[in-house]
Amino acid sequence: MHNVTMIAGDGIGPEISEAVAKIIEAAGVKIKWEKVEAGAGVMDKYGTPLPEKVFESIRKNKVALKGPITTPVGSGFRSVNVAIRKELNLYANVRPLKVHAKNFAKDENIDMVVFRENTEGLYVGIEHYVGDEAAESIKIITRKASRKITERAFEYAVREDRKKVTAVHKANILKFSDGLFLEEARKVAEKYQKTNPEIKFDDKIVDNMCMQMVQYPEQYDVLVMPNLYGDIVSDLGAGLIGGLGLAPGMNLGDEIAVFEAVHGSAPDIAGQNKANPIALLFSSVLMLRHLGETEAADRIENAAALVLNKGEVLTEDLGGSASTDQITGAIISEL
Ligand code: NAD
Repeated sequence: MHNVTMIAGDGIGPEISEAVAKIIEAAGVKIKWEKVEAGAGVMDKYGTPLPEKVFESIRKNKVALKGPITTPVGSGFRSVNVAIRKELNLYANVRPLKVHAKNFAKDENIDMVVFRENTEGLYVGIEHYVGDEAAESIKIITRKASRKITERAFEYAVREDRKKVTAVHKANILKFSDGLFLEEARKVAEKYQKTNPEIKFDDKIVDNMCMQMVQYPEQYDVLVMPNLYGDIVSDLGAGLIGGLGLAPGMNLGDEIAVFEAVHGSAPDIAGQNKANPIALLFSSVLMLRHLGETEAADRIENAAALVLNKGEVLTEDLGGSASTDQITGAIISEL
């Protein structure tokens, strides 16, 4: 039995979390979910969108599955998602871009993993107005965080037999902040060149990287970058493998891991039984591997891939008309 914190989130979060829990149960994995709430819906009850209970539960269980949480645009409270990552020092946001069904991918050769620094950059949220006509946001890049994320990317490359690590930046313009990130990434790469010379290292300016990912995805493998670029590049990558409905992710610290999809709360389709649960399901597959449930993880991943490849029961984002419940049922049938 595994003890796992579940934050269902808001928007489509509750629907897809329930679907994923059902599929995991059908695969025979025993999980005791500790359900905690966060987001706008709990403001009245707790006076904060992120009650202390959430942290207590994650710190205790060390593993969480998290649905998306809405962040008000422009005004209102700051992102609960960012706050969880910062408070628990989940410094690595890892987003694999893997093709499970050729018919949805722009290119079947895509097999990349984005390592996004998750605690600093422009996401520190330090910003202010300068008079009435301007606003200023501060971007913080530290040597320590740059080193840690690049180390994590190289460790992964060694463990998973990957061929190349690419550092992504804008150091031509942001010479201090991105310059410092690149300097640390190069130092880490130099260290790994001694022990693992088979892993190549290069760097790309982020705008060029976006073009390269679309045009020559087969040339890229592990990508490591500061926070904002990672957010944007992984959504671009999600588009290349078939959309946000298929893109999983995880937030890793030294001891704690929080698994969540790349996508947000999709308010446009919330509560309509239309959401695709597969991105959160693939995030849960990463979680099951983390928990040592490799066999169940493989079975769930294969079952979802079969449903995608058959193409008979698909949600609207994938061009079908099936409901969340129907695609969940189809995946369970394939298990
Ligand atoms: P979004 O990812 O929620 O939605 C973008 C588009 O993709 C929408 O058309 C949506 O319907 C579609 N989509 C997303 N996930 C889908 C799924 N599983 N199945 C079918 N279609 C899906 O992005 P957004 O609209 O920019 O953001 C909405 C809210 O989510 C915002 O408040 C944002 O801050 C928040 N957000 C949260 C997280 C998180 O919790 N980690 C991540 C990103 C955005």
